[in-house]
Amino acid sequence: MIKFITEEVQRLKDLIEERNKIVLLPHTSPDGDALGATGAFANIICRIFPEKEVFIVSPDDVEDYLLWLPLGDKFISYYQDNKRAVRLIKEADLILHLDHNQVKRIRYNDLVNAVYENTKAKRVLIDHHELPDKDFDLVFSYPELSSTCELIFMLLKALGWTDSYLSSEAATLLLSGIVTDTGRFMYACFYPAIFQHFSELLSFGADYSMIIDRLSYHNKEAQLRLQGYMLNNKMELYPELKAAVLTLSQDEIRERGLSKGDTEGLVNLPLTIEGIDTCCFIREDKSQIKLSFRSIGDFPVNQLAMRAFGGGGHVNAAGGEFQGSLEEAKNIYLYELKALLSEQ
Ligand code: 5GP
Ligand code: MN
Repeated sequence: MIKFITEEVQRLKDLIEERNKIVLLPHTSPDGDALGATGAFANIICRIFPEKEVFIVSPDDVEDYLLWLPLGDKFISYYQDNKRAVRLIKEADLILHLDHNQVKRIRYNDLVNAVYENTKAKRVLIDHHELPDKDFDLVFSYPELSSTCELIFMLLKALGWTDSYLSSEAATLLLSGIVTDTGRFMYACFYPAIFQHFSELLSFGADYSMIIDRLSYHNKEAQLRLQGYMLNNKMELYPELKAAVLTLSQDEIRERGLSKGDTEGLVNLPLTIEGIDTCCFIREDKSQIKLSFRSIGDFPVNQLAMRAFGGGGHVNAAGGEFQGSLEEAKNIYLYELKALLSEQ
C-alpha cells in the first residue's frame, strides 16, 4: 500500500493552516469522486478552521443523479455564476486541484486563465490519474488508488484530521466517491486496504444504504427506456476486436427529455457480453463530441483516449473529446483501436 512522504503531508498541513482563502476545484462535469473529494475536504477544513473562506468552485453544475450528495453551501458553479467563480479563483491564496491531473481539465478558458493569472496562490494537486502535470507547488498523485476520495481519506488520517473532525456527511461523501469510481467495487481495485477504508468510513457514519439507494432506485423512466433503445438499436459489436460502440446524438437525448448526465452508465452495458472486452460510448454534446471508454482486463483505454482524443483517465476507464461528427469519431476510434491491438 502507498506511503506518504511525511514532509509532504506536513507541507500540506502548513499550507492549509497559513492560507485563508481556499478554493477546491473538481474537474469539468464532476463525477461522484470529484464531488465527494472536494465536498468532504472542504467540510473538514471548515470544521477545523471556521474562520477561513473555503469554496468549491465547480466548472459545471451537479448532474441530477448526484444532487443528493451533501455538499453544503460552499459549492459554487461556474455555469450558474461565472463572475463569482472566476473571482474566487483569482482571490484565492490556496488552490486545491482534486480528481484531475491537469489544469486544463477544468475546461473553461476563464477558469484556467484565472488559475494561471493568480500567481500568489499555492497550488496543490491531489489525484489518482496517471501522468500529472508538473506545474503544481505540491503533488499527491497515486494512480494505484481507487479514487481521489480514498486518497483524501488516507491523507486526512495522515494529517490527524479524522477523529474529531470527520462528520458523517463527509464520510458519506468520501464513500460515495469510492463506490462510484470503483463501480461498486467491481473494477480492478481489489486490494485489502480499500475494504478497510470502506469499513472505517462506515464507522465514521457514512450512509452506505443511502448511497446505494440513491444510485440504484432513482432513475427516470426515460433513462431506463433509453438503455433499451441503445441496446436494441444503437449497439454495434465488433467481435473480432472484442469491442462495442454506442453512439447517441443531441436529438436522441433531448427528444426523451433527458440530459447528458442521464447517459451515465450506458458505456458499461456491452461489457457484460461474453467476449466483449472494451466499449466506447460516443455522445454528441452542445459544442463537441464526448467519448467514454471502458475495458475489462488489461486493455489500456487511457492510451487510446490520449493518443486519439486528447484525453486520458485510467487503464479501464477513460474519456476524451472530439470536434466533428459522431460517425467520424467512431471511425477514428475503430482505426485507433485496431492499431493499438496490433501493437500489443
Ligand atoms: P467518464 O467516461 O466517466 O466521463 O470518465 C472516465 C475517466 O476518464 C475518469 O477518470 C475521467 O476523469 C477521465 N476522463 C473523462 N473524460 C476525460 C477527458 O476529456 N480528458 C481526460 N484527460 N480525462 C478524462
Ligand atoms: Mn476519480
